[in-house]
Amino acid sequence: PTHPNTANIVSSKYLREFLDEMQPDQIREHLRKFTRLPHLAGTEQNLKYAEQIMKEWQEFGLDSVEMVPYDVLLSYPNKSQPNYIAIVDQLGDEVFNTSLAEPVPEGYEDISNIVPPYSAFSAQGQPEGDLVYVNYGRTEDFFQLEREMGINVTGKIVIVRYGRIFRGNKVKNAILAGAKGIIMFSDPADYWAAGVQPYPDGWNLPGGGAQRGNVLNLNGAGDPLTPGYPAKEYSYRFSLEDGVGLPKIPVHPIGFHDAVHLLKNMGGQIPPNNWKGGLNISYRIGPGFTDDFKSQKVRMNIHTNNQVTRIYNVIGRIRGALEPDRYVILGGHRDAWVFGGIDPMSGAAVVHETVRSAGRLLSKGWRPRRTIIFASWDAEEFGLLGSTEWAEDNAKLLQERAVAYINADSAIEGMYTLRVDCTPSLHTLVYDLTKQVSRFIHMQSNNICEFDRSKKHFLGSGSDFEAYFIRLGIAAGRARYTKNKKTERYSSYPVYHSVYETFEIVEKFYDPTFRRLQAVAQVRGGLIFLLADSQLLPLDANQYADSLRKYAQSIMQLAQRHPEEMETYEVSFDSLFSAVENFTVAARDFHVRLQTLNRVRVMNDQLMYLERAFIDPLGLPGRPFYRHVIFAPSSHNKYAGESFPGIYDALFDIENSADPEKAWEEVKRQISIAAFTIHAAAMTLIPPA
Ligand code: GLU
Ligand code: CA
Ligand code: ZN
Ligand code: ZN
Repeated sequence: PTHPNTANIVSSKYLREFLDEMQPDQIREHLRKFTRLPHLAGTEQNLKYAEQIMKEWQEFGLDSVEMVPYDVLLSYPNKSQPNYIAIVDQLGDEVFNTSLAEPVPEGYEDISNIVPPYSAFSAQGQPEGDLVYVNYGRTEDFFQLEREMGINVTGKIVIVRYGRIFRGNKVKNAILAGAKGIIMFSDPADYWAAGVQPYPDGWNLPGGGAQRGNVLNLNGAGDPLTPGYPAKEYSYRFSLEDGVGLPKIPVHPIGFHDAVHLLKNMGGQIPPNNWKGGLNISYRIGPGFTDDFKSQKVRMNIHTNNQVTRIYNVIGRIRGALEPDRYVILGGHRDAWVFGGIDPMSGAAVVHETVRSAGRLLSKGWRPRRTIIFASWDAEEFGLLGSTEWAEDNAKLLQERAVAYINADSAIEGMYTLRVDCTPSLHTLVYDLTKQVSRFIHMQSNNICEFDRSKKHFLGSGSDFEAYFIRLGIAAGRARYTKNKKTERYSSYPVYHSVYETFEIVEKFYDPTFRRLQAVAQVRGGLIFLLADSQLLPLDANQYADSLRKYAQSIMQLAQRHPEEMETYEVSFDSLFSAVENFTVAARDFHVRLQTLNRVRVMNDQLMYLERAFIDPLGLPGRPFYRHVIFAPSSHNKYAGESFPGIYDALFDIENSADPEKAWEEVKRQISIAAFTIHAAAMTLIPPA
């Protein structure tokens, strides 16, 4: 059933004007302006862009714009001692060295401050040893390596290909397996689209390109040295040894030109077919090199430094006319590994255009019902630091007043269709909005999908919505243009986090007319507008009920793979289903009352606080900042979301548990936590008295 409030949304005159004002040429200019120079978090150039954004947001007409600094732990390569990996012969001489930088694209030769590819927060060190190839370095890859191939990586250097999961999870898996170093490479099978030329002739990753990126396992902590509290001047800081999520081994990324040299002479077992990448080599597992090269070893030389550094968020506001104490947030990061052509500036340009358009509307006399907050986050690339510190700083206000958070990272990662991930209570709004946006924006209708409510759209992590959604329980969503998952199998997009993410790659290949970015601006902007300006909040509790039922079904099916144990240990999902049923009835009754009652503010608050009701103050086991009982980033891949994560993790690999009775007790405990939480959430929907 369609939510009554949003079925005919573009009939609102101001909304039409707001969306019509967003222009492709303007977005193009914003993107051009903010991608001229490298602007890594903590550098002078990134502060300059922050100042420029602050100034322009003021000129666009926001009521207030402020710069909000924090001092957080960042990580940079040592300028006088470069990072590289070498093959050494028996005399200890380096017979091959990996490249120290990516070949710079034409037109950018004179630009300084291009940080070479590195793994931010890598440990320092010069481990030397034999290589073991572990496919993507996923949990299942290590299981296969250890359990089926019988290979132990203790004291070895692991080499894995990039892709499929967040790189920090690969590093964590390597550490748990006992490796003393880990190398990650971009394989053509994962970073090369068929029939496409390498940049600059096309949008594929050149062989000399490599993926930068942090390798932390923060589990939502934010700045590693100040978990739970904002990283201000006076804040207490943990020592580096006690910092959250810092890897204990050296880590380094390389491109496939370098990877060939490390991989081609490896010996050991022939890999299964699905471990073979796109290079013309056999992808042997190791450990170490084949007979002829047995005496050669691999040495990593890593000198990257951790450093407490000042970062800057820019926060702009439009004061709400009727409910100034209700906040709708549009936030995205500004810091980039190099130029940030796609990540994040395609998103930041869209935010900039949204702010410009909102300013125009204000000048025509419009003022939203609720307060809108725009954020340009810093240091996302170093672990979502700017957004998480601001969430910690403002937690008390946000948990009382935040209605929704819409994320605005990269606006494009492919050329095929629109993609939206969001909390279930936003499903109806997204469905109605995208249907109508696709009808009137200047675009072929088959290029913009309608939101399919039967599909899985839930949020994982790896971008700035994390603290808002998973720690604070604020309804959240994200939208971007994406590739065709069925035909395009490469991971993220080929030049991701490389020097080749330029303005030109967007202009020449991803969005020459800037209409795709315009569509994303209209969707992100439309969401913000409707959340901030609708009298009744366009949140749908019925959709949450539907989703909960699906998630409960699927987690029960997972458990039912162990019918005997379920019987032995008396594991039942009845309580969970009864809670879901209870919630369904409460949601249905709530929306019926919503149509007749006029206690708007009371019922809006019930809708706003519904997401909050899924927060467990104690957090998930071992992950105190992941507090949402229904959704969490997967423990095996931060980018992916898991539903009923507590139950899921308790069931994971339970057949190999050393103490099955204890393991199944934990499953039962997690089912009861989920059931209780859903009952408690249902109670927030029933009439207050
Ligand atoms: N988006 C960045 C990345 O994927 C940071 C993600 C994170 O630290 O969660 O590398
Ligand atoms: Ca902190
Ligand atoms: Zn990024
Ligand atoms: Zn990003």
